Amino acid sequence: MKVLVINAGSSSLKYQLFEMPEGKVLAKGLCECIGIEGGTVTHKRPGKDDYKIQTPLDNHEAALGWVLKLLTDAELGVIADISEIEAVGHRIAHGGEKLRESCLIDDEVINYLESIVPINPLHGPPAIAGMRGCRNLMAGVPMVGVFDTSFHSTMPEKAYIYPIPYELYEQKSIRRYGFHGTSHRYVAHKVAECMGKDIKDLKIITCHLGNGSSITAIDGGKVVDTTMGFTPQEGILMGTRSGSVDPTIVTYLQSQGMTADEVEKMLNKQSGLLGVSGKSSDARVVCDAAAAGDKRAQLALQILYYGIKKYIGAFTAAMNGLDVLVFTAGIGENDRDLRAIVCRDMDYLGIALDEEVNKTVARGTNADLSAAGARVRTWVIPTDEEYMIAQDTARLAK
Ligand code: AMP
Repeated sequence: MKVLVINAGSSSLKYQLFEMPEGKVLAKGLCECIGIEGGTVTHKRPGKDDYKIQTPLDNHEAALGWVLKLLTDAELGVIADISEIEAVGHRIAHGGEKLRESCLIDDEVINYLESIVPINPLHGPPAIAGMRGCRNLMAGVPMVGVFDTSFHSTMPEKAYIYPIPYELYEQKSIRRYGFHGTSHRYVAHKVAECMGKDIKDLKIITCHLGNGSSITAIDGGKVVDTTMGFTPQEGILMGTRSGSVDPTIVTYLQSQGMTADEVEKMLNKQSGLLGVSGKSSDARVVCDAAAAGDKRAQLALQILYYGIKKYIGAFTAAMNGLDVLVFTAGIGENDRDLRAIVCRDMDYLGIALDEEVNKTVARGTNADLSAAGARVRTWVIPTDEEYMIAQDTARLAK
């Protein structure tokens, strides 16, 4: 069964065509600069040269048109006809309070997603445009929505209700939702599989550390807490996002003349690694600067390491124990120094790395990095959100 996975962002659209249930990627690519100047489509097939074309992409439907054209192209394509695609899976950042599991997309689902755009203003509209575009170009093909928030829907009230007037939850849906759920779900299940254990018997902390970062506590396969909240802004320091700060900083800056938009932009786009280091939001650049002696780059990394450590401690307390710690995403999978530093001086909790294994582990592999005898097992698991989406899509489209 061929499943197309679509991840629509505000000006970009990523795609992957899977053969399921094998999970084999037949082709994948990226449409960039949708609705702005500089439209580009990059199309990749395993074992073949990448194909890149510059072309105006007026909207998400136009980008999808290119995707389907390339997938079926006589020379560059991997299928003969669009009808070979039996289902489409959409990555959707926010499922609100109602969409707690992956589901088939119908008018009711799209209407609900439209109704929650006010709490998902950045990611909602492009995701909806991607769904509508697919419907127009692939009429009759079942579509499935997979939500970044749904894995977190098992959190207890004490974790998702903010201690502000309860009416704000009832009337404005202000609560912790959590994000990156598809990634946390994938790596949690994968690590249990790698260990030959039932996820129901494990207390797991998953650290998704990339441009955006979040940490999740999973007890018996169910999320009990996560660092991101009402928006992906909460939690640990990220590439350009501050993570949690005293909310009074916001009102103080506004009283000093900054507008709400300016404060939002500062916290979302100009903070985190970029804001503290003054160098870059890219962890590799900040690590290089720190290694060369740059004090603010060193400080930015220290804040990141310290934040991760604090949440590991907090979430271990929340679960009354910990069996497995997982690192994933761009930084978690690749930055062995970060893993070593975060796990250092954590023997009280039972965490200890085999530093040699941590240093030499091959990229892209699922690996147990723990020292012999460590009570808590520490793993690196490369995330694969697209595969998880393809799996849900294949299951629900049947
Ligand atoms: P993601 O959002 O998962 O694509 O992750 C992007 C982040 O991973 C960027 O900050 C990259 O700098 C970071 N990253 C990728 N490779 C490395 C590496 N070898 N060391 C440190 N950070 C890395």
